[in-house]
Amino acid sequence: MFIPKRILFEKDALKYEIGNNIYNFFKDNKNVEIIELHSNKIKENIPNDNLYNFYREGKKTLVVGIKKGMNFQSCKPSAHYQLPLMSGCTGHCHYCYLNTNLGDKPYARINVNIDVILAQAQKYIEERLPQETIFEGSATSDPIPIEPYSNALKHTIEFFNKSDKGKFRFVTKFTDIDTLLDINHSGNTEIRFTLNTNMVIKNYEERTPSLEKRIEACIKIIKAGYPMGFIIAPVFIYDNWKEDYRNLLVELNNSLPKDILYPLTFEIISHRYTTRAKNIILQVFPNTGLPMKDEDRIYKYGQFGYGKFVYTKQQIEEIKEFFNKEIECIFKNKIIKYII
Ligand code: SF4
Repeated sequence: MFIPKRILFEKDALKYEIGNNIYNFFKDNKNVEIIELHSNKIKENIPNDNLYNFYREGKKTLVVGIKKGMNFQSCKPSAHYQLPLMSGCTGHCHYCYLNTNLGDKPYARINVNIDVILAQAQKYIEERLPQETIFEGSATSDPIPIEPYSNALKHTIEFFNKSDKGKFRFVTKFTDIDTLLDINHSGNTEIRFTLNTNMVIKNYEERTPSLEKRIEACIKIIKAGYPMGFIIAPVFIYDNWKEDYRNLLVELNNSLPKDILYPLTFEIISHRYTTRAKNIILQVFPNTGLPMKDEDRIYKYGQFGYGKFVYTKQQIEEIKEFFNKEIECIFKNKIIKYII
C-alpha cells in the first residue's frame, strides 16, 4: 500500500466521498503532510530543483483531484477507451513509459468524481450498443497501490458487474488486491499482472513487489473468479534469458490453481525505447544498467510517427518462437494474444 509523504487535495476534492476517505485515512498520520490547495498548482508544492529530485519527491506524492473534461481517450488496440480514474504510479521502474509520457507529473493522482466518470462510461457503452465496450483502467497508471484506501477500483468493478455490454480491465505489478476479492464482478473485469524474471525485477523494477508476491496475488485473483491475464514485459535478451523466462513460466503454472474459469491470456512485449525516453531515463536513473545501446538495436518507425529502438528482426523471431513454444507446452487453458 502506498503511504505518501504528502497529499495535495485540489479545490473541492474533499466534497467527494473518495476524497474524504483518503483524508480520514491519513489525517492522524504525523508522517503524512496534508495540503489543501486553493490554486491547484501542484508542481509548486513538490520540491523540484532538478528532474532527478522531482521524480523522487513526485513519486512520494498523492494528488487528490477532480476530473474536468469528460472526453475519454481511445485506447487501441487493448480497449475502446481509457477510464480516467487515476494517473501515475508509485513504482520506480527504470524503463517505465510514464517517465516519458508523464515526466512532468511523476506523482500519483486520483480523480474523486468517480460517479461522473462512470456515468460518462455508461454513455459510451450506450453509443456502441449492441456491441461491447471495453475500458482500460491502467493506461496511464498502476491503480493498485492506492486502492486499499480509495476503493476506486472496487467501486468501478461493482459498476461493471451490473453492466451487460461494458467490460473493464486493468494491469498491475502490485499486490494490494484484498479489497477486490469478495465483491461481485460477474467476470466483467479482467485483471492482468505484469511479470518478469527475478533478474529484471531486481535490477530495473525498484519499489515493486517480488515475483513470488505477485504470483501469490494472482492465485487470489483466480480463486476470486476473475478472468486473469499476464503481460510479460519488457522481455530482455541477456545471458540465460531463456532459462530464466522458462523458469518463470513453469513456476507460474505450478503455483496457479488448475480449475480456472477463463483461459489465461498472455501478452509478450520485447524491450524497446525512444531517444526521448532514453534521455529522460539517464537523467532520472544515471546508473541504470538498462541495455540501451542504439548500435545493438534496429530503428523502427511506429504508428504514431516516431521511431523506437527495438531488438533485431532475428532476435524478435527468437523471442516469438521461444514464448510460443514454451507457453504452448506449459499451460493448458490459455490464449497467446500477441508477442511483439
Ligand atoms: Fe511504470 Fe508499471 Fe513500473 Fe509503475 S509498475 S513504474 S506504471 S512500469
